Formats: sequence, C-alpha cells, structure tokens
Amino acid sequence: MRTIDDFDFENKKALIRVDFNVPLDSEFHVTDTSRIEAAKPSILKVLEDGGSAILMSHLGRPKGKNNPEMSLAHICEKVSEIIGVQVKFAKDSVGDEAGKAASSLENGEVLLLENLRFHPEEESGDEAFAKQLAALGDIYINDAFGTAHRAHASTTIIAKFFTDRKCFGYLLAKEIKAIEKVMQTGEKPVTAILGGAKVSSKITIIENILDKVDHLIIGGGMTYTFVKAQGGSVGDSICEDDKMELALEILKQAEAKGVQVHLPVDVLAADAFENAANTQFVSVGSIPKGWQGLDAGPQTLENFKEVILGSKTILWNGPVGVFEMENFAKGTISVGNAIDEATQNGAFSLVGGGDSVAAVKQFGFQNKVSYVSTGGGAMLESLEVRTLPVIAAIFD
Ligand code: AMP
Repeated sequence: MRTIDDFDFENKKALIRVDFNVPLDSEFHVTDTSRIEAAKPSILKVLEDGGSAILMSHLGRPKGKNNPEMSLAHICEKVSEIIGVQVKFAKDSVGDEAGKAASSLENGEVLLLENLRFHPEEESGDEAFAKQLAALGDIYINDAFGTAHRAHASTTIIAKFFTDRKCFGYLLAKEIKAIEKVMQTGEKPVTAILGGAKVSSKITIIENILDKVDHLIIGGGMTYTFVKAQGGSVGDSICEDDKMELALEILKQAEAKGVQVHLPVDVLAADAFENAANTQFVSVGSIPKGWQGLDAGPQTLENFKEVILGSKTILWNGPVGVFEMENFAKGTISVGNAIDEATQNGAFSLVGGGDSVAAVKQFGFQNKVSYVSTGGGAMLESLEVRTLPVIAAIFD
C-alpha cells in the first residue's frame, strides 16, 4: 500500500482529495471542524517537504448545479486557521480559473478548489472531467475515507491519470489499516457487537462477519426480530416480521461456523417510545403487549461485558439501546465502558458506522477505543467485504 510517506513533495503540486463536507450553520460557519483537522497531517507533510497542496472536496448535495449556499468559499477561512497557512480559493474546480490558480501556486502554498459537485460529471465519474482535475497536480493523494465507496471522478476515476504517482493520505491509510486489523489480521478471540435499529440494514455485514469472528453480540432494535423468530413475545418492540426467517438462517449459519451468538436475555421495556415513559425490566422473550424493549437489561450487560473482556479484537457498530434518550442510554454506555476496559487490557477496538460514532462521541469514548472510523457508509461497505472503489483505484 503506497502512502504519502513514500513520496517526497519538494517542488511538487500535490492534488489532494479531502472530505471537507462539514456542517455549516445558517450563517455559513463551520460547526464541526473534525474533518478539516483530520486532513491536516497529510497537508502539512506536503508543505513541510517543500511542495504545495491543491485541495478538492465536495460539500453537501448541490446535484450538479452551482449553489452559492454550498460553496467551499465559506470554509476557506476556517481551513486557513486550522492549517496555519492562508488558503487561496479558486471559484471553480476545473477550467481557466482553476488552471491559473494551480499553475501560479508556489511551494508552501495551499489552494482550495470550489465544490466538485457543482459539476454533474463529478458524481457520474466522468473521465474527461477527471482528466481536467488531474492536470492540476503532479501527485494524487486520496485522503477522503467518507467517499471511499463512491466511484466519483475525483475519488477514483482520476487515479488512472497518475500511474505511479498516487497514494493514500494518512487518514485513509489509517482507516484501511484499522479495518484490516479487524477483518483480516485480528488477534483472536474476535468479537463483533452489532446494534442499531434494524436487521435489514445490517444483514450484509452480519453475513460477511460470520467468517471472521468468534463471538457475535447482537443488541438494540435488531434483537426483537431474532427473539420473535425463536418464538418469544416482543410486545410492541421494533420488529421486522419479514426478516424473521433470515434471522433464523443467520443463527444456523453462525452455529455451523462455530460463532457464538450472544443475544440479550433481559431488557428495559417502556410503555411508550419516550424518555419519560414508565419502565420495567423483563425477560427478553416475555415483553407484555403495550411495552417495547428500548435498552439492554442488567443480566444482558453482564453477559456482554464478560464476552468483551475476553476478546482481543473488537468491532462495534450500532448502539444497544435508544441512547439518544437518557433513560435508555445505560446499555450503550455499559458496552462502551467494557470496550474501554478491554482496550486498556490490550485489545484492539474499532468503532464505526454512523450512529455508533455519534454515541461514542456523546459519551466521550473516542479516546478510549483504539480507533474510531469517520467514514460511515464507506466503513459499513468495507465490512460488507466490498473492496472500496478508492482502494482498487490506488492499488491499480
Ligand atoms: P443504526 O443506524 O442502524 O445503527 O441504528 C441506530 C438507531 O437504532 C439509534 O438511533 C437507536 O436509537 C436505535 N435503536 C437502538 N435500539 C433500539 C430499540 N431497542 N428500539 C428502537 N430503536 C433502537
């Protein structure tokens, strides 16, 4: 795997695909700078080598049209502040404007191009557009994990114009290594904790992961489809009746593959889907009508903890309860604490995929696990055994 460390950027223009798709408030101020900060090490490496950096990104979903609200000009000052260099801005990502700005760029300087997605050719993966972008730089760096599962012009198509002058940035390289560490080279026992709302959104991950793990912990809303399929009463809990057969099939496959599946045995049930609802702990297969399971119960959490503490490699995707409501967050916090302890004892822990990252941040676990993946969809797809288009393009 070629990374940015394999190149010397002296007198070179590095064309870097970053993910600056950051949230903006109504006055166009950046409200979460983590994606900009995440790209900083790669940008600094180029500058410190004595080269210049041309940054390209998308912002929002302008659907191929110029939309001033989604202009990257809004974030130029913030990027300058974080990088520590006054960043120049080109009002277009291709054409004269971009060409002139790129060719006049001096070593030590940084140029930010306008939103790539103002051109429909970006998302359609247009080769001519990719070629125009490619003409702006000498070496191509991809450091945008969030779009690693998309075959867009700037993320993958462009790579073919840089035969041996392309590499992964630090962020992307770290993401790839972390996923590899779980999915390919993880020290045993390997445990996956899958939660979240629905079986249907996790099914491809579950199927793929059964070949890699020793233990599979299932929690959250997914639980009830499994429990009902096995003949339990789940009351008004979230349940996908049309996925019950699939749930039984997964359990059968797991058994055949020697994977130990751990489902909740008790749950915190509520009489409404709200924080102030009345609650009671009940056994998972006997939830009364009018009640729904919204968090894991104490015995379940004990069981989960024991499995987690006995693991050397841990993957966590999806909360085990409705953590957004304080009264149903205890299970997710408890799982996080157990992963923290296991990590302190030497396990490698990876958290990733949409809501688990939100949960991890909300409860301050981000520094307690080994790695938090920032690429929601990309992370999930790489757990679904797909070789991400970006990775294929750079390895090509
Ligand atoms: P996902 O995006 O599939 O990881 O799902 C995350 C969502 O699942 C979160 O918003 C949780 O509130 C929700 N969730 C977790 N446990 C439950 C449950 N027992 N009932 C309903 N929703 C749940």
